[in-house]
Amino acid sequence: MRVICYSTKSVEKNLLIKANKEQHDITLISNALNIKTTSYAEDKDAVVVFTSDDVTAPVINKLSAFGIKYILTRSVGTDHIDMKTAQELGIEVANIPAYSPQAIAEQAVALALALSRHLILANQQCHHYNFSLDHLVGFNFYKKTVGLIGLGHIGTATASIFNGLGCKVLGYDILQKNIAHIEFVDLDKLYRESDIISLHTPLTPETRHLISEASLLKMKNGVMIINTARGDLIKTTDALSALKSGKIGYLGLDVYEYEKGLFFEDHEADEVRDALFSELMHFPNVLISPHLAFLTKEALAEIATQTINILDHWEKS
Ligand code: NAD
Repeated sequence: MRVICYSTKSVEKNLLIKANKEQHDITLISNALNIKTTSYAEDKDAVVVFTSDDVTAPVINKLSAFGIKYILTRSVGTDHIDMKTAQELGIEVANIPAYSPQAIAEQAVALALALSRHLILANQQCHHYNFSLDHLVGFNFYKKTVGLIGLGHIGTATASIFNGLGCKVLGYDILQKNIAHIEFVDLDKLYRESDIISLHTPLTPETRHLISEASLLKMKNGVMIINTARGDLIKTTDALSALKSGKIGYLGLDVYEYEKGLFFEDHEADEVRDALFSELMHFPNVLISPHLAFLTKEALAEIATQTINILDHWEKS
């Protein structure tokens, strides 16, 4: 199969080459897919993309004109792909549904623990030989209530870790689920009773701005919110207001509403910066990682293996 793989990061290149075992004719490029870079897909059968790629209708139309029959995203989420257009044009779309849910769950908990124990500030102070404890009082997770929204692969893996810390775990999902050690509740109860809320749903029209002024009003004062799912789940301007009022006590993000065109690249030299992001970074109780929850050796190897397996399957079909 002739394949063009967009947005290939240097950390995944060798893993993809190794997994491929020279079976498919894969061209790995670092360029993102957009209307201008579709020309790289000429004469190919399949296009492999990532979450930062533009896979909207105009791009898919162009890919279809080049004869592309398959689009594969090296991610769980498919919210960046116009599925309706792909289907109408007879293009098959696949994702990698579960490459390593633990990688994302561990990052969610890492953000939560680092926030609660002020690890970033403590480390910065140590660099300056300031060993004062004045601003470093944290809290125990033991016996706290954690609310998980979305109880799929990642939500369930996150529950296990919080259970291990001795937390009471509440969970909500659009589908009724009976999972050991998770008390299934409605969203209002989850908002009302949780000290920590962690988001694990896909981005859909229903989950966009799930965390907004209206839902924040239902939460405890000083609630910790962790988002490793998709940036648009949180209305960032409302989160900023809630940080200012103290409604949100801690905010841990691996994803950001306006991350497209910002994350995954070095923008240090940019003259104009994202004002909203800069404002968020100003808060000592906000911790942001740039969409790297998937970035473990194990997850990257699994993504590469499953990418090739799906190409194999398409070639045989
Ligand atoms: P999954 O499909 O296993 O689980 C998603 C769960 O959300 C399902 O149980 C589903 O029923 C539930 N859900 C859907 N709509 C809902 C709604 N409106 N309200 C409540 N629950 C709803 O997916 P997963 O593997 O657990 O991944 C979850 C999301 O995490 C992905 O869609 C992706 O956006 C994100 N993700 C982020 C990273 C990262 O690097 N930061 C990596 C992988 C996945």
